[in-house]
Amino acid sequence: MSRFELPIRTDLKGQIPYGAPTDSVPVRLNVNENPYPPSDSVIAAIAQAAGEAARAINRYPDRDCLNLRAALASYLELESGLSIDPDRIWAANGSNEIMAQIFSAFGGPDTCALTFDPTYSMYPEYARDSFTHMVPISRREDFTIDIEQGISVIRERQPNLVIITSPNNPTGTSIPVTEIAELAAAATAVGAVIVVDEAYAEFRSDRASTALTLLNEFPNLIVSRTMSKAFGYAGGRVGYCASSTTEIVQALKLVRLPYHLSAISQAAAIAALDFAAESLDRVDQIIRERNKITMQLTAMGLEVAPSEANFLLFGKFDDRHAIWEGLLAQGILIRETGPQGWLRVSVGTQAESEMFIECLRTLV
Ligand SMILES: *Cc1c(COP(=O)(O)O)cnc(C)c1O
Repeated sequence: MSRFELPIRTDLKGQIPYGAPTDSVPVRLNVNENPYPPSDSVIAAIAQAAGEAARAINRYPDRDCLNLRAALASYLELESGLSIDPDRIWAANGSNEIMAQIFSAFGGPDTCALTFDPTYSMYPEYARDSFTHMVPISRREDFTIDIEQGISVIRERQPNLVIITSPNNPTGTSIPVTEIAELAAAATAVGAVIVVDEAYAEFRSDRASTALTLLNEFPNLIVSRTMSKAFGYAGGRVGYCASSTTEIVQALKLVRLPYHLSAISQAAAIAALDFAAESLDRVDQIIRERNKITMQLTAMGLEVAPSEANFLLFGKFDDRHAIWEGLLAQGILIRETGPQGWLRVSVGTQAESEMFIECLRTLV
């Protein structure tokens, strides 16, 4: 059989699929999930909505997800106090699919996308799959963005996409909206689409500080959000974006798969969104926990990158792998990611965080 080599695309040969280790250990703090399962009332509402959707499961779902987009618009209004027309909102299977659609619609051969690294490890994969060239710009030592440098690279390289992740993964760093606006102005001048990935926006300290406030200021801005993190809905797979214009949504519709969001997905997400206030209370709890862990790590003499997300990047270790393994041996899974010497831990429940801190103390 060895004569018949798999005729896979040359650029995919030998590549390894993305995947954080998901070992079944008691304390999983490795993929920035919300540690709290839904309440019984949320579970009941999801079950009922899914049951009702099943009555018409012989039919294709609403391919434009109109009710879900309206529910997401109401959620954004509750969360940020901004009223955004559902026509300017788009939804997909996780913000990963939103990003893939953005690369597919605005990237492609002979285009390039700018990112500020270290950042989310999936961007290079969307770029590869859409044949988009990546131009990574290094963040400063403290993980903030050098805006002057960013502007000059935008002018020089004339990218098609500028991706700003704020709060950033894996560093937790938030970029002030005024700085995002400076980059967006430079990007607009060269005709680029600006994408602000706000997967962790709900964990920011200043409610008013979101790139959603810039949607009416720049013509080509997309703000991507997700139900996976703050909402505690990672398994439901619903991400979305708000954009400057309906034309942007039309462009994403060109590249989406037909009926990409199932009727069950749409119905269940709408039901879960009814409990937004409940999930935002959980967010406050996670923020308090995050601030406590920050103080504990600092008191241990460790460096902690200031975080506005639901995780912390801490270090630095001469042998970070040894620390990661030492924690795993005690039943705690964190993530070996980010620049050399650093480790990332998701904020868990109070009990999980205490276990993490106690076990870490035995290692440093
Ligand atoms: C977790 C994460 C996402 C969200 O992914 P989903 O597909 O919505 O689950 C998007 N962007 C960043 C930077 C993330 O860390």
